Amino acid sequence: MVLRQLDPTREDAVGQCAQAARSSAVLHRDLNYDFLSLTEGKGNHLMLADGRRVFDASGGASVGCLGWGNERVARAVMKQIMAIPYCSTVFYTTSVQEELCRYLVDSTHGSMGRAYIVNSGSEAMEAALKLARQYFVELSPAQHNRTRFISRRQSYHGITLGALAVGGHEYRRAKFEPILMKNSSRVSPCNPFRGKNPGETDQEYVDRLVKELDDEFQAVGPETVCAFIAEPIVGAALGCVPSVPGYFKAVQAVCRKYGALLIFDEVMCGMGRTGTLHAWEQEGVAPDIQTFGKALGGGYQPVAGVLASRGVVNVLERGSSVFVHGHTYQGHPAGCAAALEVQKIIRDENLLANVRTMGELLSKRLQERLGAHPNVGNIRGRGLFWGIEFVADKDKKEPFPAEDHVAMAICERGLAKEYSIGVYPGTGSADGIRGDHIIVSPAYNVRKEEIEWIVDALGRLVDDFFRIRH
Ligand code: PLP
Repeated sequence: MVLRQLDPTREDAVGQCAQAARSSAVLHRDLNYDFLSLTEGKGNHLMLADGRRVFDASGGASVGCLGWGNERVARAVMKQIMAIPYCSTVFYTTSVQEELCRYLVDSTHGSMGRAYIVNSGSEAMEAALKLARQYFVELSPAQHNRTRFISRRQSYHGITLGALAVGGHEYRRAKFEPILMKNSSRVSPCNPFRGKNPGETDQEYVDRLVKELDDEFQAVGPETVCAFIAEPIVGAALGCVPSVPGYFKAVQAVCRKYGALLIFDEVMCGMGRTGTLHAWEQEGVAPDIQTFGKALGGGYQPVAGVLASRGVVNVLERGSSVFVHGHTYQGHPAGCAAALEVQKIIRDENLLANVRTMGELLSKRLQERLGAHPNVGNIRGRGLFWGIEFVADKDKKEPFPAEDHVAMAICERGLAKEYSIGVYPGTGSADGIRGDHIIVSPAYNVRKEEIEWIVDALGRLVDDFFRIRH
């Protein structure tokens, strides 16, 4: 049963589930879906109110990086709340905010100058867009024409209006298109599985994509572009797709040629998820502005943020000295306390080494178990951030019809008792509308035997799902 398609007018159990959903007071994501109630999280397991115990193999939406019930983080948050739970940032700061931002800046080894803490990845993206614009306003009157952003198709940068406008997630944009700001355009993503021509080398592919980007700068007027925006490894919209070597270096060169900034959205792929604290470290390219979220606080508090390069900060310091972008809850002490403790645990327990080792094992085992499956088109990722893309026809890379909701149905079936595995669904990986993938992104402290369990459960789930479907 695909609960997503519940029909409240039916008179059977399906209809009853839908009616139960309709009686909720919560404006849920899906008003017909009978959401499963979570009661507890322990280590890598989630307990459900109906007695089920699910292995959380994706940390929700790649958020959980330490698993659940971590007492060190809970104590740090509690201590902060008892000391000072809120900080109005007009006159005040807190030592926890200062320490967190210092930690983040220092983690970039001189690339970044200051950090700004907010509550969600979307807020971080809004701040990044405004910071880029303000940078040019303060740089010189000759730069005031810079009002445009270039991003990539099949990208997701957040759900608020500014972030949605620069993103390329067709489904999430569609209903709001008329009210999105019009000052952005998109080029092709770097997605070798679908974008690379047969026989094309990595270098030829990079050259082709970079020419497309250069052409886009020329088409909109290079002097009008604030920034190019990209995720170093595309998460929700494509399913953990890293770029081919050299792509980001070439992209940065185009940005520099035209004086535009480079913004990396690391909300999903950052803060250690791919094996280095910042995903860009593996590209050898530091951005001018970077956003991060999810694994920053590991789900223990809503917390995200922006890092700005020394160059960007210098311009503001020499200019108005005011970033015209204040939130009531920016730099929230409880969020900062959670983030700082999560990051200290990652450092103290040397978890990034575990991300790399367990990531290699996960990649190897996924390929062995599912690589040859007729409905698995591609398995890709880095660190503990892996995507599996499903296809109806392996040779032709033909996706399933969008209305079949294949990724959602697989993930939902995974929650059944015989699998008891939680993974994260995504759509649009083929052409923006069609294309189903799931994300496997366990906690950074995942153990070898848990990786083996995840792959076994996923293997059985995928086998059974497609056997029954056909
Ligand atoms: N950017 C990326 C790359 C994301 O994956 C997300 C969320 O999935 C966001 C931005 C938005 O973050 P949030 O949902 O915390 O607002």
